[in-house]
Amino acid sequence: MFFRKKQDVYHRVHTYGSPILNKKAESVKNINEEINAIATEMIETMLCFDGIGLAGPQAGVGRRIVAFGIPEHRDDEEQAILSPGEALLLPKMPFVIVNPEITWRSDETEIKEEGCLSLPGIYGEVERPKMVTFTAETLDGKTISCDCDGLLARCVQHECDHLDGKLFIERMTEEEFGIIKPKLNRLKKRGRKTQFMRIVGGE
Ligand SMILES: [Zn+2]
Repeated sequence: MFFRKKQDVYHRVHTYGSPILNKKAESVKNINEEINAIATEMIETMLCFDGIGLAGPQAGVGRRIVAFGIPEHRDDEEQAILSPGEALLLPKMPFVIVNPEITWRSDETEIKEEGCLSLPGIYGEVERPKMVTFTAETLDGKTISCDCDGLLARCVQHECDHLDGKLFIERMTEEEFGIIKPKLNRLKKRGRKTQFMRIVGGE
């Protein structure tokens, strides 16, 4: 587990080795006060750790909730025009979605480096569909359907994997996985023995 403190509040992210990361998260039945409180806490945790996405299980919540904090402006020039999903959601960041479901994946794939707050210090290339369509509920009870590309498409797939108990390292090639394996073992051991924390800001 990984802790950070901001304004006297400790934010906690479950790291590799924590069993909740391998469990399928449950659907949210009602978007009530409890879910809103979880969403607020998840956004704070994500921002505290400088993450761009956080799924329920990472925050110790076995529910299908995802927080996003994808920057609106990127220097990624290859994609000057935003996909409809990015145009809709990027101005609303940080943003929380509930019960997301990927309903379409492009045949075209892309290999990009990924990282994860639950795997601090570990990065690796992952091949995924370049574009996806997903549906989800928003905290104000609306259902949205988003066609997305770019970082949002990648992030949605990474976070939906978390909800199904899957980490990005499971999608790496065997060769790539071999490179990070020693680091992974160290992380798992350390996670079991200690609950280390990093304290930033708000002191
Ligand atoms: Zn992750």
